[in-house]
Amino acid sequence: MGLHDKKPCPCGSGKMSWWLSDARGIPVSRVCEDCEKKIMAKYRPEIFTNPEYWTDEQVEPDEEYRKKKTAKLKKRKTKKCKCK
Ligand SMILES: [Zn+2]
Repeated sequence: MGLHDKKPCPCGSGKMSWWLSDARGIPVSRVCEDCEKKIMAKYRPEIFTNPEYWTDEQVEPDEEYRKKKTAKLKKRKTKKCKCK
């Protein structure tokens, strides 16, 4: 299945859909003109504008990516909390 297959949107509009990708080029969801804004609203806006964003959402089911993410998480835990 290619990224640019022409398929009706899974939202049920029956309209042509495309892959909505985040700022890192990772496909997030199939969208059409009807639901693009709705889908984008489910995610933090920075994932579409900032390639350095941090997310807990599973946007890339690739095993290699998961390992990297886990490694990043461990590294993150050793950092001081900035929430104060
Ligand atoms: Zn749609």
